[in-house]
Amino acid sequence: MTIDSTAKYRKPEWLRKKISFSAQKEMDQLLEEVGIHTICQEAKCPNISECFSKKNATFLILGNICTRRCSYCNVLTGKPEEVNPKEINQVTVAVLRLGLKFVVITSPARDDLGDGGASQFYKVTKNILEKSPGTQVELLIPDFKGKIESIQKVVDSGAIIIGHNVETIPRFYKIRKNASYKRSIQVLKDIKRLGGDNVKTKSALMVGLGETFEEMVQVFQDLIDVGCKFLSIGQYLAPSGEFEKVKEFVTPETFALYKRTAMDMGFEFVHSTPYARSSYMAHEYLSNEDGDTNKNLLK
Ligand code: SF4
Repeated sequence: MTIDSTAKYRKPEWLRKKISFSAQKEMDQLLEEVGIHTICQEAKCPNISECFSKKNATFLILGNICTRRCSYCNVLTGKPEEVNPKEINQVTVAVLRLGLKFVVITSPARDDLGDGGASQFYKVTKNILEKSPGTQVELLIPDFKGKIESIQKVVDSGAIIIGHNVETIPRFYKIRKNASYKRSIQVLKDIKRLGGDNVKTKSALMVGLGETFEEMVQVFQDLIDVGCKFLSIGQYLAPSGEFEKVKEFVTPETFALYKRTAMDMGFEFVHSTPYARSSYMAHEYLSNEDGDTNKNLLK
């Protein structure tokens, strides 16, 4: 469904999601008490009531201010705060209080820090694994400007999945401030090279920006070539009128086709639905790792 960007439009049926504020109240309260941010709240994720009601959340470390200014992202930008050493324990407290067996941790880009924040990812992960040994940790990292020492640090943290999102096809990289497609692919390659079988890599793509099917398939191939086996594909939704415009509402049939194509090319698990986000139902990627289960979901 192509959109006339000059006209007012209504979201198609498949994108009308019910939001229940009561479902997320308990989580909101706990997060406030513990004093940590989530990307769910900062990015105004449309899945928030669903995820919070299931006690799924993606914790945001290293503050809530990003040093880049991507034109599709709602996270605040500007001069970030000092790194807070207390958050190492705060995240673990939240994990323990929520009884989480699987947790996703991410950060804004912190280009102001020499290691891009990698050592904080390391400390937060180690602390969780030490105090909550039954919990598995997934990290969703920025590109650390491709610094190999930083990538080594997150690989050494004990995280079971390390994700880095390519976000879009190479032709649209102007919307990713200070990023490069080549570098993002290289980051995923380096994680796999350094982590081997101890770590799974994951990436995510937004669609609806005007990409073609062939361009998407080329990205799938680039990811497969660097050993990335987990992928999420979701509809881009502009946070407001000041952000990159949505060019198209991709139909559920096309999402299903992307999933089928990616699985046939060698991915082990693919979430490809309008509301899929890289951290959406993140625990499912490992539980369906054999691929067959995920293939059975193909419609
Ligand atoms: S999809 Fe991810 S970012 Fe969105 S609410 Fe769920 S856990 Fe948070």
